[in-house]
Amino acid sequence: MAIATLDQVLPQGRAQKYAVGAYDFMNPTMMLGIMDAVEETRTPVILQFPDGQCMDDLDIYAPAMIAAAKKASVPVVVHLDHGKSLDACRRCLEAGFSSIMIDASTQPYDENVRITREVVALCRPRNIPVEAELGHVGQGLDYDPDNYQYTDPKEAAAFVEATGISALAVAIGNAHGVYRGKPRINYAVLEEITRLVSIPLVLHGGSGIPDEDFKKIIKMGVSKINIFTELALEAADRLRAIEKGKLDVFSADEAVRSGFKARTLQKIRLFETKSL
Ligand SMILES: [Zn+2]
Repeated sequence: MAIATLDQVLPQGRAQKYAVGAYDFMNPTMMLGIMDAVEETRTPVILQFPDGQCMDDLDIYAPAMIAAAKKASVPVVVHLDHGKSLDACRRCLEAGFSSIMIDASTQPYDENVRITREVVALCRPRNIPVEAELGHVGQGLDYDPDNYQYTDPKEAAAFVEATGISALAVAIGNAHGVYRGKPRINYAVLEEITRLVSIPLVLHGGSGIPDEDFKKIIKMGVSKINIFTELALEAADRLRAIEKGKLDVFSADEAVRSGFKARTLQKIRLFETKSL
């Protein structure tokens, strides 16, 4: 199966009420664990590379992601997560990514539109869909549902129209990493967004959201869900469970790979990700 784009894996999800997981990784072992899970279930996947310190080694990771996608028997989207600049997006495009997220959500609305439009203009000639974020999905450790930058549904409709993006990351009470307190999803905001925006919607900060909320969120029209922290915590649990004296690079590698695989499998089932 060849490398896929968001346009090939997400619209069916929204129409048929299932989601495709977008799993971040920061080393090859984590990536292999994710790929093990999608091979076993024969389901599409969005393999996410975060813009951060890993970008220094993009020239090593990009070929590895592309090779994993080409080897896979399922559609694999090779995606930049939270691109911070036009330059980062350009570098990933040139490295062969099939999908780009630009995150200018900390900027004022007009600036977010301007930057996002630039990235869409860069990607369009190569038929590469773009994800962008409106409202702001902050960090779980700062989480406060009463003081939160929700996506404004009317602004969201205007943003999609003005930028030409293919997927919209929404802030509906979700946050990255481990949540301080319990996540509180604002369903009224999500409902209004789904009424006004027809492109696929993305939920960041999926780790720690209860299963019942996920089911509801997906039925309402979210078709891409980003997960990293839960995979990392599962791997850490497995590392700690290694018997004293048996911890070495091989057992550690196996703990990380199997941890990422196990938690990805669980999410695929929960999201009811369908084979294409
Ligand atoms: Zn995110």
